[in-house]
Amino acid sequence: MTETMKAAVVTQFQAPLEIQDLPIPTPGPGEVLIKTLYSGVCHTDLHAAHGDWPVKPTPPFIPGHEGAGEVVAVGEGVTELQVGDWAGNAWLWSACGHCEWCQTGRETLCPNAQYGGYTKDGSFGQYMVVDAKFAPRIPKTVDLAAVAPILCAGVTVYKGLKESEVKPGEWVLISGVGGLGHIAVQYAVAMGMRVATVDVDDAKSELARKHGAELTFNAITEGDNLDAKIKEATGGGVHGGLVTAVNGKAFPLAVGALRSGGTVSLVGLPPEAFPLDIFSTVLFGLTIRGSLVGTRKDMEEAIDFFARGLIKPTYKVQPLAEVNEIFDDMIAAKIDGRIVMDMGH
Ligand SMILES: [Zn+2]
Ligand SMILES: [Zn+2]
Repeated sequence: MTETMKAAVVTQFQAPLEIQDLPIPTPGPGEVLIKTLYSGVCHTDLHAAHGDWPVKPTPPFIPGHEGAGEVVAVGEGVTELQVGDWAGNAWLWSACGHCEWCQTGRETLCPNAQYGGYTKDGSFGQYMVVDAKFAPRIPKTVDLAAVAPILCAGVTVYKGLKESEVKPGEWVLISGVGGLGHIAVQYAVAMGMRVATVDVDDAKSELARKHGAELTFNAITEGDNLDAKIKEATGGGVHGGLVTAVNGKAFPLAVGALRSGGTVSLVGLPPEAFPLDIFSTVLFGLTIRGSLVGTRKDMEEAIDFFARGLIKPTYKVQPLAEVNEIFDDMIAAKIDGRIVMDMGH
């Protein structure tokens, strides 16, 4: 092992990331060191580097929470992983294990959680330290570049679909067929749901149909009353919805397309609010809920769907050195699917 590693570092908010040579970190008790081979790039990394959110990370830090690689050292007391295993990092880097949320199976809501690439250095480096109890295990049968997007995008949409409470044979509406949405379509189909999608781009609708969507709608060309059209096409409305879009209009549309008793789960994060019609929410017994990444168990299940060949994220591999160009392309919405960085070992 060399003694230093290359990593993309946020030295100050809004500034380009710097590729630095840093000492390889040492795993503490309960932690392991991973030789990161690939890392997906998520919109959250961009928000982290810009300091966009009210609770900010502290520069200098290394972003990234879709890292996949091999365990090369284990800290004191680690029993969950050993050298040679494949593992990754995730947004939920760790949780406390004893708060009311951790005790009730909702560890993603833990107020004492640590976040990969945010409060803990992440996967935009050639090595990273993870908590052995929380690091996603990766089976050795999978492609490490292809599995990276599952570690945030995949688990996020998988959990969001579970939270929609749509059962096999029922309709789900997926709003937005971008980086998250095209993966959501595949999970929904694999989970036995009937899929309808809404996007503003016919090429995305075609991608959705390729992945098994039965109905696709263009929010621009379909014009007004699209919620009524979706209700008619699905025999009374979708049973649930998953909003991955960041266009504010997607939110009331997803609610409007629900059949009575339906649930919409929100995973996209536009900075705005949306109007909610109280009368129909009450009268039709609708549920609107937020869903944030997933627990360790959700992650295990999301990876298992992928490992069984049911989920094929669209992604492109680029070197770590191009991290700033990748961020620029994200801001310009030029990316199709997901970018996975090769750490260049
Ligand atoms: Zn993410
Ligand atoms: Zn907790």
